[in-house]
Amino acid sequence: MSIEQIDTLVVGGGQAGLAMSEHLSANGVPHLVLERYRIAERWRSERWDSLVANGPAWHDRFPGFEFSDVDPSVGPNDFPHKETVADYFVAYAKRIAAPIRCGVEVLSVERNVGRPGFRLETSAGVIEANSVVAATGPFQRSIMPRMVPSDTGVVQMHSAGYRNPRQLPEGAVLVVGSGSSGTQIAEELLESGRRVYLSVGPHDRPPRAYRGHDYCWWLGVLGKWDAITREAGKEHVTIAVSGAHGGHTIDFRLLAARGMILVGRTHAYENGVISFAPDLVENLANGDANLLSVLDEADAYVARNGLNLPAEPGARTPAPDADCVKHPILSLDLAKSKIATIIWATGFAADFCWLKVDAFDEHGRPKHQRGVSAEPGIYFLGLPWLSRRGSSFIWGVWHDAKYLADQITIQRNYMAHHNASQRDGGAR
Ligand SMILES: Cc1cc2nc3c(=O)[nH]c(=O)nc-3n(C[C@H](O)[C@H](O)[C@H](O)COP(=O)(O)OP(=O)(O)OC[C@H]3O[C@@H](n4cnc5c(N)ncnc54)[C@H](O)[C@@H]3O)c2cc1C
Repeated sequence: MSIEQIDTLVVGGGQAGLAMSEHLSANGVPHLVLERYRIAERWRSERWDSLVANGPAWHDRFPGFEFSDVDPSVGPNDFPHKETVADYFVAYAKRIAAPIRCGVEVLSVERNVGRPGFRLETSAGVIEANSVVAATGPFQRSIMPRMVPSDTGVVQMHSAGYRNPRQLPEGAVLVVGSGSSGTQIAEELLESGRRVYLSVGPHDRPPRAYRGHDYCWWLGVLGKWDAITREAGKEHVTIAVSGAHGGHTIDFRLLAARGMILVGRTHAYENGVISFAPDLVENLANGDANLLSVLDEADAYVARNGLNLPAEPGARTPAPDADCVKHPILSLDLAKSKIATIIWATGFAADFCWLKVDAFDEHGRPKHQRGVSAEPGIYFLGLPWLSRRGSSFIWGVWHDAKYLADQITIQRNYMAHHNASQRDGGAR
């Protein structure tokens, strides 16, 4: 039986795979996208029920296609529900006639021996390709610290497994992690009437909106989406933003005023007692400093450009400290505090175990420059900071995909030149 051949194989049918397909088509590169489940599966089944996009519809989208093209009720400043985001990508795939096969998992990729290209074992047979783009997502495997033993009687889950408050047993909840997921989940649980402890680590918390513009706009005009490296010392800092309830600035002190109990970074567990680092006040102060730095830069931008945007002095006034901030809790007896669930909103790691090529460093991290890997013919797309801050976001991945499509085209042109020279009787 002959083996199926394709020039470029894209692994993953999320936003990254679709953006890649669009640009490969524009460059006339024959390709195929393989998705193991459905288009944009993670938006459908690996997020909690109430999740809405963190960025407004006018910003977090591909150029040339609006959310209102899919659902006319979504306005430009709305934060689309996760199902609408998935529907958007399904519609987009149709619009660009993406050659995508769903329900096919790529099991392994290996370089051919003695000839160009790669051999891909898939759940539907073998395929050979000259180039492979790994578009399997920035958040592939949940990171869940093994700090609390599984036999304590407390239900433990990662934020990727959380769906809604009804899913959890009766009792208080400890949410670990103050990025967007942890904060939004903790707020939803508080609103459902739960007693909630939130473990707050180092974080940035930009204003949701300031002087009439969303923070996505501010990050754009201030050049921050295009920043190419993280600020030194901020490599492990998460960003707390929310589009819930029409979008609001995350202010941990306000959450505490509403009854949430803030604690520092979760540190250790022993004999039923979980302990926290004494860093709550410092983490909150650094988060405030981050907010103020964005406001300062925004004000300077307004002044420099003479923009007529209303001043918003109230944005600088911190809410008063609640008791849990004045007297931070350093340990909790899980049973005595009636904590029945721990939700670890502690992030994700990459998992490229199926990619058996020389494109990784000694820690298993992809070696690449703007997605062009150390192994010729292998490309990465959608990874955090692939080329800039925006790389793992809907808007940013589209631009990275364009660059990669151009790199693949350049290599195809070199090979076309070689083949033509061979036909003409010798390479030059
Ligand atoms: C809670 C949360 C909220 C977010 N909100 C926003 C937001 O509001 N705005 C924004 O811009 N970004 C947001 N992001 C970031 C980013 O947009 C999403 O993570 C997005 O899903 C990434 O798209 P992707 O295509 O790169 O990867 P994924 O969506 O992860 O898609 C990869 C696809 O590859 C498939 N796959 C994996 N392995 C294989 C294999 N071996 N063979 C075949 N298929 C495979 C998977 O099934 C999956 O469908 C959010 C992320 C999270 C976690």
